[in-house]
Amino acid sequence: MTGSTSDYLHVNYLWDDTTADALDPVERLRYRSNLLGADQRITNTGGGNTSSKIDMPDPITGEPVEVLWVKGSGGDLRTATRANFASLDLAKLRSLQALYDRTEPRGAKTPIEDAMVDLYRHATFNLNPAAGSIDTPLHGLLPARHVDHMHPTAVIAIAASRDQEALTREVFGGEVGWVPWQRPGFDLGLVMRAEAAKNPKLKGLVMGQHGLINWAEDDKACYALTLALIEKAARYVAARDKGAAAFGGSRYAPMEAQAREALLVQLLPRLRGLVSQQQRFIGTVHATDAVLAFVNSVDAPRLAELGTSCPDHFLRTKIKPLYVPWDPHTEDLAALIARLEAGLVQYRADYAAYYAACKRPTSPAMRDPNPTVILIPGLGLIAWGKTKSESRVTAEFYSLAIDVMRASEAISQYQGLPRQEAFDIEYWLLEEAKLKRMPAEKELARNVVVVIGAGSGIGKAVAQRVAREGAHVVCADLSVEAAQTTAEELLAQYGHGIGLAGTGVSGCGPALGLGVDITKRESVRALFDQVVLAYGGIDNVIVTAGIFVPPDRTGRIPDERWALTYAINVTGGYLVADEARALWQAQGLKGSLVLTTSVNGAVPKPGSLAYDTSKAAANHLVRELAIELAPLVRVNGLAPATVVEGSSMFPRERVISSLTKYAIAFDETESTEALRGKLAGFYAQRTLTKAPITLADQAEVAFLLSTGRFSKTTGQIISVDGGLAEAFLR
Ligand SMILES: [Zn+2]
Repeated sequence: MTGSTSDYLHVNYLWDDTTADALDPVERLRYRSNLLGADQRITNTGGGNTSSKIDMPDPITGEPVEVLWVKGSGGDLRTATRANFASLDLAKLRSLQALYDRTEPRGAKTPIEDAMVDLYRHATFNLNPAAGSIDTPLHGLLPARHVDHMHPTAVIAIAASRDQEALTREVFGGEVGWVPWQRPGFDLGLVMRAEAAKNPKLKGLVMGQHGLINWAEDDKACYALTLALIEKAARYVAARDKGAAAFGGSRYAPMEAQAREALLVQLLPRLRGLVSQQQRFIGTVHATDAVLAFVNSVDAPRLAELGTSCPDHFLRTKIKPLYVPWDPHTEDLAALIARLEAGLVQYRADYAAYYAACKRPTSPAMRDPNPTVILIPGLGLIAWGKTKSESRVTAEFYSLAIDVMRASEAISQYQGLPRQEAFDIEYWLLEEAKLKRMPAEKELARNVVVVIGAGSGIGKAVAQRVAREGAHVVCADLSVEAAQTTAEELLAQYGHGIGLAGTGVSGCGPALGLGVDITKRESVRALFDQVVLAYGGIDNVIVTAGIFVPPDRTGRIPDERWALTYAINVTGGYLVADEARALWQAQGLKGSLVLTTSVNGAVPKPGSLAYDTSKAAANHLVRELAIELAPLVRVNGLAPATVVEGSSMFPRERVISSLTKYAIAFDETESTEALRGKLAGFYAQRTLTKAPITLADQAEVAFLLSTGRFSKTTGQIISVDGGLAEAFLR
């Protein structure tokens, strides 16, 4: 099995000579890494690393140097670029052993192990800023030119089985050795090098409770070997899979997809509130057939208690998930919530006990004791993280752990990482240092902001503004295309995040475009249902959708246009608030609502009777809602005036008619934006601040009203009108 796609049933052989041969040796490593990372069965998001030892000229002397290129700290193989690889002078890196050898104590988890990570930087070749990871010595100390370290499901299944050493022999014969679990570091590199020296025929090692490492002198051969070893393990597992009898068979019958979604819509806001008492979380629902088979099974509670195995998984999934026993066919939502509440109390107590039992004198303080993975029969897996990306990664990791457990239980008996070992990873001082180096969270991080009217104008500017502050943004608009365009622009700017999980809309990124007609309650409800399935709940709602109906030539507004004006500008805001209220109350978390009104609500003018009175009603709606939704939700109004720039309320015709009305000179050949500029300049002169009012001015205030900076302000209308004395509220 070395080069044809048909040789592999359980992994995809993707190597293409034409592509690879056009690349330099470092790019070939990047290429190999991307191919390996592209298959979840080979390694998880962010997991595993690869290396090549490449001869390169020293930048000063020109003398050849053997350089270790190895995936750096924090990178991801699937998406890695050249910049994600550290480069180290191999001789210098290996010379660190002298220092290591004369230090006492040394070995796994001694202080010198953590200190070594900083010393790797002294071996940096050619000032490459990418930092080496804790796995650097595994690659540097093994003699082969090319090394792949992966977290393949089928191999972890062997590595997490009770009789892992014997299974390794049985599956791989003598070509792959075995080393017991040991936290990665310099000592593990020495252990591996000794194994390879002892048995020159070895092509790789199964790493107990962890994964696979293997090597070759040629990069393409290393890639093919990685695949061949995984294929071998996967075939061994597949031949023994228990099918419907996996996990002890099923205890609960599956739910219909529609019923499952309907229940999740009810459950998720409540659940988000329960797990977010210390800090807010963003949710991901993952309900593949494999996940559902597990949560519905007889063995799920026993296996869930054992926790995950791969140290990578564990950092996100925590010591164990919360499994909630509940029969979707005989019990109702209230029973589930009661069971969840009790389960969470127990989980937090267990977590505190685990922390107390395992902590060391130098351990960081206990972190949020809430589970990040919740398993519910019929519903699947619900993961929580500080961002959408993190919750998707968490869901991915636990679903991979489910695959590992299924395979392990098919061939042997699954065992998790020992509790103290799990703790020593979760509270590893190196991890803590990494957390401390992370930039402070942005102002709207962990928040889900729904912007209605996000397809254009002020709404679009608001969506961009809150995204800049770390918000998860639902861009909603009457035009679903316009909403999706805004969301896609945000995703292009901020990325989709990582993590391969999320069923249906829950697989979304940090921005999502959805259609809504706020004049119809069912449409508003359908919008919020999607938001809940996507992110688990809502925090802030900002409505910028509105309509201005100009009078006809006789100065009149037809009755149906009058009604439409009220339906959008008044009833729409009410329906949005009324539907969001149920979610806010279910969560029990503070939220905010901003309705866009207008200075016209305070200043009567000829020719805009419907608009002006509707905005006056909207101003009072803000006050009424502030009373209705207190104390949980603050409600404020944003009252713009004459934002001409990029406004759908100022089409070319209206701009020209206004310019004519005010006797402002213009040329018919000028662009609409240029004409808008002239009109904006004219309007600016009527204000106290004498400057045109921009979309960004409006977006800034909508953003600020949504943040804690205005935590004591509710029921107020903030005018952003450049200063119009006649619009002063009194
Ligand atoms: Zn690993």
